[in-house]
Amino acid sequence: GRRKLVVGNWKMNGLRAQLGEVEAIGRAAGEHPAVEVGLCVPATLIEPARAVAGAAFIGAQDCHGARSGAHTGCLSAEMVREAGAGWVIVGHSERRTDQHESSADVAAKALAAREAGLKVILCLGESLDTRDGGKALDFVLEQLARSLPEGAGADWLSIAYEPIWAIGTGRIPTMEQIEEMHGAIRGALREALGADAADGVRILYGGSVNAGNAADIFALPDVDGGLVGGASLKAESFAPIIAAA
Ligand code: 13P
Repeated sequence: GRRKLVVGNWKMNGLRAQLGEVEAIGRAAGEHPAVEVGLCVPATLIEPARAVAGAAFIGAQDCHGARSGAHTGCLSAEMVREAGAGWVIVGHSERRTDQHESSADVAAKALAAREAGLKVILCLGESLDTRDGGKALDFVLEQLARSLPEGAGADWLSIAYEPIWAIGTGRIPTMEQIEEMHGAIRGALREALGADAADGVRILYGGSVNAGNAADIFALPDVDGGLVGGASLKAESFAPIIAAA
């Protein structure tokens, strides 16, 4: 079976004053060794977070698709790896929107990450208009096809399905909608990678995961854990989500 994976995405939150929360989350991870737990922190916190994170891995929230060069303000996969990240998120909807990242950019980032020895969480998700228009499955599968890097394998790649309208809103899809989308992603991965490889890939759900809904979501077929924003900022709210996995 696939080991459950629960990852916090701190987004643009976190100063050194919050390292105590990282430490407490690391302790919670240590209490649930069956679950793989990580925190994707701002790049400025990767190194100090790694020093206190215990059983939790530390990841970055983005990396560039090129190895190096004239890209002011950007960080390469090798840079975040050297700072202590073992994982990186690519293709988060906030970056697809705010930084105008295309799915081709996202695939390049995933490949660069793999080359640097990072594991990757590749994010997908539709807008509310797309969902209401009945096109969520088509949209997400198209995004997957365009974002999936060459040589994708379960040893280094996980997928996160994060409907944009569920992020930070307190609103989540129905259990049927989550199950349907994750099943469709699994089916598409089987076609792209073959059944053996595809069946090892963890598919996370993200968007308003909290202590109250985590157990139901994580029990769905083809849901292998979660990518958690707001509720991952404090051990008090994140630990029960880890325990639910
Ligand atoms: P929230 O859990 O705050 O809705 O954020 C989800 C998310 O975007 C994680 O990447």
